[in-house]
Amino acid sequence: MARPIVATLDLVAMRNNLQVARQAAPHSRVWSVVKANAYGHGLDRVWSALGTTDGFAMLNLEEAILLRERGWKGPILMLEGFFHADELPLFDKYRLTTSLHSNWQVKVLANARLNAPLDVYLKMNSGMNRLGFTADRVQTIWKQLRAISNVGQLTLMAHFADAELPEGIAEPMKLIEQATEGLECARSLSNSAATMWHPEAHFDWVRPGIILYGASPSGQWRDIANSGLKPVMSLKSEIIGIQNLKGGDAVGYGSRYRATDEQRIGIVACGYADGYPRHAPSGTPVRVDGILTTTVGTVSMDMLAVDLTPCPQAGIGSSVELWGNEVKIDDVAAAAGTVGYELMCALAQRVPVVVQS
Ligand SMILES: *Cc1c(COP(=O)(O)O)cnc(C)c1O
Repeated sequence: MARPIVATLDLVAMRNNLQVARQAAPHSRVWSVVKANAYGHGLDRVWSALGTTDGFAMLNLEEAILLRERGWKGPILMLEGFFHADELPLFDKYRLTTSLHSNWQVKVLANARLNAPLDVYLKMNSGMNRLGFTADRVQTIWKQLRAISNVGQLTLMAHFADAELPEGIAEPMKLIEQATEGLECARSLSNSAATMWHPEAHFDWVRPGIILYGASPSGQWRDIANSGLKPVMSLKSEIIGIQNLKGGDAVGYGSRYRATDEQRIGIVACGYADGYPRHAPSGTPVRVDGILTTTVGTVSMDMLAVDLTPCPQAGIGSSVELWGNEVKIDDVAAAAGTVGYELMCALAQRVPVVVQS
């Protein structure tokens, strides 16, 4: 028998989530963001569940080529464009829409020999100060691009740093308006948070990522509790050992948890080498046989411990949900001081994956 840990991917939930995103932005087309191997879910496993999307957005060439080889004929947006000039022939061959965020990319595109023009997303820096042209340069670059025969359809793209906050996009929206004054341009501005919570930023194309996987862009699943979004990934395992502690007994490396009284604990076949966050402290939520309880002690490479006080019937072989429909990945992430994005992206190779369609 195999080690009992398994990640299940619910493609029905994923189709549902794309619908939720569409309903949130009914007048926009949707780039389904599938970077980082579809946020750790496996692009090849899940892309077809998003097959009714208007386009896929990512940043690895290998992932874009995979989609083309699987038969995806619609638009593909490379969010960071090409990293080196020698990638241009592949952008041309596979008909990839490229983001342009730097001068050198504009020059490379202008001088490339292409079979046909490439669609371009001009990336504006609206305040995150990661990638993109500053507001004062947008009009100049836009005109420059218009004059380049290798440039097909042109769209303005920006990305918000704080879209999960109620006032989080006010400043960048002002900057974008100023930068584009008098410019007739298609726009793509909204990540998941703006897609859900800032309709004034929807425009022509939205770019939801995390909500397609059923987690919250704010890191607090309560923010999406009534949205109809459903978790795609469930991480489940089983109890493989039981310990009956006496008052004062410790659990795990560093003896970071000590029982105050008699306590029954279960040892679960899941550790940080599976992608469970080692930073998760005692008290992180987990379900055993469907009953809510918590982790105790330091997460090991291959195991973690859970309190069985609320579930005295549990024993060897009891099922454990680390995250999924009952235990929200956002809650586990919050306990561990991170976000659901990081946990899903970190699902380890060694965890077997079952796809439910
Ligand atoms: C990752 C990414 C997105 C999607 O972000 P979510 O918060 O997952 O919705 C959208 N646009 C760009 C440029 C990105 O890098």
